[in-house]
Amino acid sequence: MNEFRYKRIFFSQIIFLTLLSIVTFIFFKNNASVFNYFLLWTVAIILNLYTIKFFALPSVSEIEETITKKDVALNQQKKEYELENLKYKRLLDSLQDPVCILTRNLIIIYANEAFRNLFSYTEKKFPAPLIRVTRNLDFQKFLEEAVETNQTATKSYFSFNQLQDPHKTYFDLKVFSVENEINFLCLLHDVTERKMTDQVREDFVSNFSHEVRTPLTILNGQMQNLKAQLIKEPNFESRFGDTFLKIENNSRRLINLFNDLLRLTSVETKKDINKEPINIEEMLTFLAQDLMINYPKKKITVNIDLAQKIFLVDYNLFEQALLNLIDNALKYTRENGHISISSFHQDDWDHLIIKDSGMGIPEDQLHRIFERFFRVDASRSSDTEGTGLGLSIVKHIVQKHDGRIKVQSKSKEGTTFTLSFPSK
Ligand code: ADP
Repeated sequence: MNEFRYKRIFFSQIIFLTLLSIVTFIFFKNNASVFNYFLLWTVAIILNLYTIKFFALPSVSEIEETITKKDVALNQQKKEYELENLKYKRLLDSLQDPVCILTRNLIIIYANEAFRNLFSYTEKKFPAPLIRVTRNLDFQKFLEEAVETNQTATKSYFSFNQLQDPHKTYFDLKVFSVENEINFLCLLHDVTERKMTDQVREDFVSNFSHEVRTPLTILNGQMQNLKAQLIKEPNFESRFGDTFLKIENNSRRLINLFNDLLRLTSVETKKDINKEPINIEEMLTFLAQDLMINYPKKKITVNIDLAQKIFLVDYNLFEQALLNLIDNALKYTRENGHISISSFHQDDWDHLIIKDSGMGIPEDQLHRIFERFFRVDASRSSDTEGTGLGLSIVKHIVQKHDGRIKVQSKSKEGTTFTLSFPSK
């Protein structure tokens, strides 16, 4: 439209200048005074300005045409948006996993069929408050916290305990913000089968360990009896000494292994832990003194200096974790080594640091040390007894407390474990 307007203005200017030249030529041919010229040019300029204004304004039909064009474009855009929306909704509806999109105020603006079925929400009307659709306070609380922190939040093995759900179903939950933290997408993934397999595995390990531990303890007792009787025999040491040593060592290793397996499954399967404020200074001092007795020749110094003494933890589990870590520190530190234990509080977290001057862990193996049965470099581990389960137990204990564990180490320089627990 602008193009037409410029053309019109251009042609009107040509016509105007031609007319002005003709008028000037006819009327002022013989009678040209400065005043007359001035008058004529003033009138001409005013008239020209009016002409330009007149031609510059769009005509009614032009306005109508523009509006219609804009209307068509808008409708087209709306249709495209609706189509896009429908495509996403169809896509989400076709998912077997329950999905919903909700606002920061926990109002569901869309929930796919699987989500509606999970909560037997027959109405399809959205927006609807989350609590009205799900009727589950735990779920509401989890989403409230996730939305508040604005970060991707996940939870494993979440169970809704729905009355309508007689077979308990477990879900992995994931919530993250979409559209610049205005809306949030909540994904649920059914992991009931995985949970059941884990349960069977845990039950098997637990039952198996129990079943094997008893005969092993009996065998060990019988072996000690036999040794007590044979020890009076002449040349006992040269005849039986080596055999008894091997039997003793191996049965102790087996008993330790089954004890650790039982400990690990007991931590893994523990549903509730009993958190209470505990003064860890006494526990640490006692544990360090007690464990050092097992390494009498090493002469390792242990220094305990705690800025934060009260930790909100489960007494027995925490003691088990410390026992494993301090025992490792003593086990993997050479004679005249040094262990320092410190703590501090920061931003709602209590941190405990156990640092040793031991043999350290090679960097390329550091990421594997919390794996079950993993022992750094079999050749170096062969001279120290261990099951490779100690750090797995520690990791699970820390996780049960919603805490974090970090390890830093340098070969031949030492290792530092940092355990962090929420203080509230
Ligand atoms: P283990 O019963 O073998 O000690 P852990 O699970 O406690 O099993 O530890 C796994 C491996 O990590 C150990 O075999 C050892 O090689 C290494 N490790 C653990 N703690 C330390 C430490 N403080 N210093 C050096 N190496 C360590």
